Amino acid sequence: MSASTATAVTRRQGRIPVPAEVQRKLLLECGFQCSVPQCRTTQALEFHHVNGNRRDNREDNLLVLCAVHHALAHEPRSRLDRKACIWLKQGITKLSRVLEVDKKELIRIWKKLRTEGPGGDERGRLIESLTAGLLATIPGFIVAKRGIPSPIGDRVDILIRNETADPFLSKLGPYVPVECKARLDRPVEAPEVAAFLGKMALNRFTTGIMFSLSGFTQEAVSMAGSATRKDLMIILVGPDDVSDMIESRNRAENIKEAATRSLLAG
Ligand SMILES: [Zn+2]
Ligand SMILES: [Zn+2]
Repeated sequence: MSASTATAVTRRQGRIPVPAEVQRKLLLECGFQCSVPQCRTTQALEFHHVNGNRRDNREDNLLVLCAVHHALAHEPRSRLDRKACIWLKQGITKLSRVLEVDKKELIRIWKKLRTEGPGGDERGRLIESLTAGLLATIPGFIVAKRGIPSPIGDRVDILIRNETADPFLSKLGPYVPVECKARLDRPVEAPEVAAFLGKMALNRFTTGIMFSLSGFTQEAVSMAGSATRKDLMIILVGPDDVSDMIESRNRAENIKEAATRSLLAG
């Protein structure tokens, strides 16, 4: 979404351009996506005046919609009427506040983890909280369980139930196991990736996500890449990705980027 697209739309008759600062705030709030939950397109975004007054550019009165849903909002007797738009706007504002509070907590955990400070079990618990917190904000990702024993004696750190409507993420399978590595001294190595792949295969998971605070060796990345090009997808999430995800309003996009990277590696 570029500012020029938004400006082009506000040029229409009778409108006062939405100030750049307000545009930025609204786009951040909705995660640069159409506000209709089942749509979420990032293309051709426009600003809709919820109360019908095109001169009323207050933040509360502006809803980010894609061109298709914007046209629908202006159709007579449309289901996307003023009331529906008010609901959407309220939902977005509420979610944005929740994410803001949640982000502060995630930053607190992240800072703690990046110091050598807490050891062993405490680190494990912290990284699981961070990972679960990040993934739970992806629409349709439900943190089903934490610390589940697996048939090979080891355990799955987190299990995500995948009910997303996103066409890409829905291909990851109904359940996605997540493994977390909290140590800082050395990157995750190929045998650890292999062990996770083994665990996935045994449990018939098609996709897994591995978080590591110390990154991955080149061999580990290659192993994940070659598995991904066959039938098991393993998404590697390193420390830079975690930083990006904490700041991100669209964490689904971060996971998709990491998945694409895994696919291209190896
Ligand atoms: Zn409109
Ligand atoms: Zn839309």
